[in-house]
Amino acid sequence: MAKLEIHQFECLSDNYGVLIHDSASGATASIDAPEQTPIETALAETGWQLSHILVTHHHFDHTGANLALKQKYGATIVGNAADAERIPGIDVHVDDGGTYDFAGHVAQIMDTSGHTVGHITYYFADDNVAFAGDTLFTLGCGRVFEGTMDQMWNSLLKLKALPPETVVYSGHEYTQGNAKFALSVDPQNQDLLARASEVDDLRSRGQATVPTTIARELATNPFLRPDNAGIRGHLGMQSASDAEVFAEIRRRKDSF
Ligand code: ZN
Ligand code: FE
Repeated sequence: MAKLEIHQFECLSDNYGVLIHDSASGATASIDAPEQTPIETALAETGWQLSHILVTHHHFDHTGANLALKQKYGATIVGNAADAERIPGIDVHVDDGGTYDFAGHVAQIMDTSGHTVGHITYYFADDNVAFAGDTLFTLGCGRVFEGTMDQMWNSLLKLKALPPETVVYSGHEYTQGNAKFALSVDPQNQDLLARASEVDDLRSRGQATVPTTIARELATNPFLRPDNAGIRGHLGMQSASDAEVFAEIRRRKDSF
């Protein structure tokens, strides 16, 4: 089976929209629905016909165009059964630990709560790609709005365990700010220093820093590195648990 085709584009002020397309069947899914017009522009540019919306979480910048797109294209809206009442227009309910078959491409459904309770990640193992919404960002992670720090850490542990070559799409272009923060807690990390300048270069040319890979995040994203001796030393938390170090890093980011 041919791999999913993937098209990413900008929405709202700093969101990314993503279309995924199965060439054999013509099925096309929007990962979340941040904004109608850019999604329709992307459909026109690709020539793809919208058939599905795969929702990661209920926030308006991820579901705001659900109903308009459903009405106009008859798109089937897929979301977490456990959060169904907050997902506008939901048709198909999926569950943590279950799967969703998108035109023969099987997504594993992973509960990655923390940013919201009921946030899910769609992991297409055969296509080597995960759509992580606002859980894991390039060099960052989502703010913990609804869940607990422990919940978010457990969600990140699931993403950490994916194959390193997994390509990770996320909902926002926050990377330059994330890089500045990352250097404040992991200033000696040579991979991070190199990456921060690469990010500045990409952004100065208007290029996206999303997607990333699990391997790159393991090397440079402080939220996946609370076990790192350099970070622990910098925070003076040599004997704390990984969950405690993660929570401290997340709190520092909230006020950075
Ligand atoms: Zn969100
Ligand atoms: Fe968001």
